[in-house]
Amino acid sequence: MNKIQDLKQIFSQETGLELKTGVSLSEYSSFRIGGPAEYFFEARQLSHLIKAVETARKYRFPFYVIGGGYNLLFDDAGYNGLIIRNLASGLSFSPEKGWLEVHSGTYLGEIINLTISAGLGGLEFLAGIPGTAGGAIYGNAGAFGQAIGDRVVEVVLLGEKGQEIILKKSELHFGYRHSDLKKNHRVILKAYLKVEQDSSAAIKKKVQDYLERRSKKHPPRETACAGSFFKNPVLPDGQKIAAGYLLEQVGAKGMRVGQAAVFPGHCNFIINLGGAIAHDVLSLAAELKERVWKKFGLLLEEEVIYIPATASMI
Ligand SMILES: Cc1cc2nc3c(=O)[nH]c(=O)nc-3n(C[C@H](O)[C@H](O)[C@H](O)COP(=O)(O)OP(=O)(O)OC[C@H]3O[C@@H](n4cnc5c(N)ncnc54)[C@H](O)[C@@H]3O)c2cc1C
Repeated sequence: MNKIQDLKQIFSQETGLELKTGVSLSEYSSFRIGGPAEYFFEARQLSHLIKAVETARKYRFPFYVIGGGYNLLFDDAGYNGLIIRNLASGLSFSPEKGWLEVHSGTYLGEIINLTISAGLGGLEFLAGIPGTAGGAIYGNAGAFGQAIGDRVVEVVLLGEKGQEIILKKSELHFGYRHSDLKKNHRVILKAYLKVEQDSSAAIKKKVQDYLERRSKKHPPRETACAGSFFKNPVLPDGQKIAAGYLLEQVGAKGMRVGQAAVFPGHCNFIINLGGAIAHDVLSLAAELKERVWKKFGLLLEEEVIYIPATASMI
């Protein structure tokens, strides 16, 4: 198959849906960095997400599913294949089980709003974390000592043959910014999250407290970045050290490569000053890692996910 000429047509025949071509990925990453995607599709319903993935698989066409793009660094060369942006949102509560069913493209903010209005507590710590449920589960997003994996009961994945695969929390091996989906990247369709009845006022208060605490340590909303760049290293005794502290100790404040710079208010944020390219960010990150390694003998691990143009979930 001649990729450029044929996938658009095949996709439309197979799914009745339209693909876009040559879309700039910088529009779809909070870093505002990335070259063009050969093909791009926005799934607004689970059935469209499934059709897009199945078509790419059927034609052995490289594809990659993203959510809100808040934890990603795209390649300057863009993406050689199909980027599927998952915006399939949906939420429902089962009172008998105390589970919230969440479609993977639902934004965490939407989930928080529903939990406030419906009086469902337990997810307040997610307030202010940008992105979708799928992205959060993939990387076990969290804050203030809690993570979404603590609340996951089951996750529904899209199997190779189009079947639904249900995995229980214990099978996903959630850890600090980790789930086993990072080892075996599969498409998340839905998740069931455990919630508890509480008063809307109490939930709202907790949410506001978390948002206030976040606003003190995070860059302003309009800053182009992808959150904390590195994970906090964990020592053999289980103790975590703040990567931001280590970076400050090695003189990270004020460092920059091209238009990528260390955020002065918190050294674990790499920000795009405007016009940064992925190469700038990667070079700056490599220099930061090198310095921490030399001074502390600790190897920082990236939390932000770099997606090379040739990556694929096929
Ligand atoms: C200002 C700022 C603050 C942040 N604060 C926090 C914080 O406090 N805590 C925290 O944990 N993170 C934080 N982050 C990072 C980010 O918000 C989280 O990692 C979030 O979970 C990313 O979700 P997303 O939908 O944007 O995922 P994306 O960035 O789009 O994707 C991330 C990964 O998830 C995978 N993925 C997404 N959806 C699916 C799916 N349906 N199926 C399979 N794989 C999927 C993608 O393939 C990719 O590998 C912050 C980011 C920013 C910009």
